[in-house]
Amino acid sequence: MHSPAGDVLETELLVFKASLIHGFGGFAKAAIGKGTRVVEYVGERISKSESLRKCEGNNEFIFSLNEEQDLDGDVAWNPARLLNHSCAPNCEAELQEDRIWIVASRDIPAGEEVTFNYGYDLVDYRDYPCRCGALNCVGYIVAEEFFEHVLKGSPRCR
Ligand SMILES: [Zn+2]
Repeated sequence: MHSPAGDVLETELLVFKASLIHGFGGFAKAAIGKGTRVVEYVGERISKSESLRKCEGNNEFIFSLNEEQDLDGDVAWNPARLLNHSCAPNCEAELQEDRIWIVASRDIPAGEEVTFNYGYDLVDYRDYPCRCGALNCVGYIVAEEFFEHVLKGSPRCR
């Protein structure tokens, strides 16, 4: 995975440090109100064809921006890529004016780890176990719309 060495380890609202979920995570420095833009998910803007090529190489940090461009967040200057997935997240990734923001979906107390749902589909989901520790954890990193499918233990679908 990614070494946080040399990375940005603090933003206006977050501090990045070891997480019980996985590797490094982002934690609220102070209480964050619902609806706050917690951190921008920055990266390299790439074409759809470049994105397709990178996705085939298993890049898990790509967001769709618009018809022409995707965002590849797998860069050292994007601390938001260290944020962990959770099955019961306190933030969500939102596309606003052609930029990706991690936005608080509820009030977050100081010190709490900031998480969002990575929104993965079911392709090879068994390769992405989830250790978020939420009561409703489904055991794998998938978008909420697939929770039921995964909980039923169905074979992977394409
Ligand atoms: Zn989970």
